[in-house]
Amino acid sequence: MYPKKKPKSDRERFEEAFRRKVGCTPQVYTARKLASGMQEEELRRRYDLLAVEIAMKIHCTAVRFDTLRSETRSPSASERHVERARRSAVPVCPRCGARMVLRTGQQGARKGRKYWGCSNYPACRCTKDLEEETP
Ligand SMILES: [Zn+2]
Repeated sequence: MYPKKKPKSDRERFEEAFRRKVGCTPQVYTARKLASGMQEEELRRRYDLLAVEIAMKIHCTAVRFDTLRSETRSPSASERHVERARRSAVPVCPRCGARMVLRTGQQGARKGRKYWGCSNYPACRCTKDLEEETP
C-alpha cells in the first residue's frame, strides 16, 4: 500500500521556492559557487542558512548541503528508494512543518533516549517524544 499521492512533495516545494528566491536550483547554485573557488565549508554554512530560511518560510524541509553533495556523488536509485521509505514513517514538525529526524539525547531528561528533532535545527528547536515502539 502506498500513501496517497500528494500534488507536490516537500522537496519539490523547497526546490521551487529556492529557484524563486535565488534564480537557479540548489544543485546549480552550489556547483557555481564551488566552481568560483568558494571553499566547501564556507559554502555549506552559507547554503544551509539560505536553505533553512527558505524552507521555514514555506513550511517544508530544507535540502541540506550534505544531502545535495551525497546525491551528486552517488545518485543510486535503490538508495533513494530506501530513503523515501524511511521518510514516509517520519513525523512532521508541528512548529515549522519540516520532517523530523531521529536523535539520541545527549544530556538532561532525554539522555540516552531516542526522540524526534526538527530537521531545520538549529533554526527550529522543536522536538517530539518517540511514540511507543511496537515489539
Ligand atoms: Zn521545526
